[in-house]
Amino acid sequence: MAFDVIIIGSGLAGLAAALELAPHRRVALVSKGALRSGASQHAQGGIAAPLGPGDSVAAHLRDTLEAGAGLCDANAARAIIDQACAAIGWLQAQGVAFSTEGAHLHLTREGGHGQRRIAHAADATGRAIIAALVARVEQQPAITVLARHCAIDLLLSGAPGSRCHGVRLLDLDRGLRRDIAAAQVVIATGGAGQVYASTTAPPSATGDGIAIAARAGARVANLAFTQFHPTGLHHPRADGFLISEAVRGEGGRLCLPDGSRFMPAHDPRAELAPRDIVARAIHAEMQRHALDCVHLDIRHQPRDFLLAHFPLIHGRCLALGLDIATTPIPVAPTAHYTCGGIATDIDGRSSVPGLYAAGEAACTGLHGANRLASNSLLECVVTGRAAARDILASPLATPSGAAMATAVAPAHAAPADAAAMAACVARQRQALRASMSRDAGIVRSDASLRRAADHIRALRRALEAHDPADDGLALLELRNLALVADLIVGDAQARRESRGAHFNQDWPDRAEAATGQAAPP
Ligand SMILES: Cc1cc2nc3c(=O)[nH]c(=O)nc-3n(C[C@H](O)[C@H](O)[C@H](O)COP(=O)(O)OP(=O)(O)OC[C@H]3O[C@@H](n4cnc5c(N)ncnc54)[C@H](O)[C@@H]3O)c2cc1C
Repeated sequence: MAFDVIIIGSGLAGLAAALELAPHRRVALVSKGALRSGASQHAQGGIAAPLGPGDSVAAHLRDTLEAGAGLCDANAARAIIDQACAAIGWLQAQGVAFSTEGAHLHLTREGGHGQRRIAHAADATGRAIIAALVARVEQQPAITVLARHCAIDLLLSGAPGSRCHGVRLLDLDRGLRRDIAAAQVVIATGGAGQVYASTTAPPSATGDGIAIAARAGARVANLAFTQFHPTGLHHPRADGFLISEAVRGEGGRLCLPDGSRFMPAHDPRAELAPRDIVARAIHAEMQRHALDCVHLDIRHQPRDFLLAHFPLIHGRCLALGLDIATTPIPVAPTAHYTCGGIATDIDGRSSVPGLYAAGEAACTGLHGANRLASNSLLECVVTGRAAARDILASPLATPSGAAMATAVAPAHAAPADAAAMAACVARQRQALRASMSRDAGIVRSDASLRRAADHIRALRRALEAHDPADDGLALLELRNLALVADLIVGDAQARRESRGAHFNQDWPDRAEAATGQAAPP
């Protein structure tokens, strides 16, 4: 249990950091689920890089800044996009087989991109990437995988904001708490989609890393900007399944149930406008016509094309009784991506010494107020590796003495009324998610944000009555969801304007200068 670096999270950002650090450092790779439990595994569309003929870093940057609605950090965005082609090369070197067309990578197009720029592995890009990287990790003796271990909090040398020298974990199988020490900790825990009732994000996306960092005194930024994906599959058994933006990139049209197309009336870029615009347009049409969903029509493409480009979507829809070659797909906006997070520089350094963050948990300034499609896998690879390189450049340090010993303590015995307690936690989680979707979702108002804030305040007060030492996974996650919801609503209330993924109907215009809680360093 002696490590140089602890990485919390085994999605793309965590795996990229681990592979860059090994064999030079002893790495603990911690995941509260299995190695493949994060959002990365579910990524469909692909990863953006200016690889096409006539494309350039400048053009990719332009589209990124445009989607980010004036809130990107242009220098950070340029630095990340500069590394995009190298990131694709690195993934290929790890064994990722992207879809090809002749001798070249096949590039698809997604909303907000001025041209074809998305490298992909059919429509299951995340699965292909994670399979290749996990195989590499499993061959690397310098990496110790601690699966089914949930990070609870960071070990600090003093008050919040002081040096981080380890992590307190809950071993989910044995019910043990243990403190493990390391000179550096990388948070790569993904986003907080589970704050909302409907989301494409996996169950692990409870914002733990953001909450853990905030409790440790790290700066967080831009949490008002939850990106809603315009086209979540609308079906009782969809289970958060996403209909990739690439379907619109290949000509899919959004229609009302009577077959009429509506996007051209909302934006000249129609179905390929940035996600916030498409999601709000669908939301408005659903409200206007009292609909639960709209339709995405890709029937003009032959079945062979659909099977070649969208085998996952075709198969999943068919299993639900929807043949996308003959039937329009029912879709509705759903929470998808956490644009804000732990404020970091482009080397992943947070404001807490010794603490790094990468991937969706971090806020580097690349996404600003709205993420450009397929820029997040890119950010995971570039910043995960950059954080690792920054750690490698610092002298190999022994973690501070106090935390060197591994303290193992049993978690407190489950209370006698454990079943009633579990049901109560589940109810509170559901109520929080419903409140966030209703009052802090795609369209917000001052009054709705106040209602959400009141709900969160009452929940957090109730949670304070519990001794955190008694928390099992469900309560740990609820505590984190409540804190992240508070940060989202607080940031939204601080913004007296609408911008990117944040829309407040009482402040519908974009202000000259953005306001908010904090900006990336
Ligand atoms: C359905 C879907 C499709 C997408 N498609 C695309 C796409 O085509 N292109 C694109 O660029 N982006 C896409 N995205 C977004 C992208 O997949 C994610 O932003 C990205 O994969 C996040 O990677 P990550 O490494 O930051 O986190 P994740 O992959 O989410 O991994 C987080 C890890 O942290 C672990 N964890 C969380 N909390 C704790 C804790 N307390 N203790 C220990 N471990 C913890 C989890 O178990 C998991 O291992 C998609 C997202 C979804 C949901």
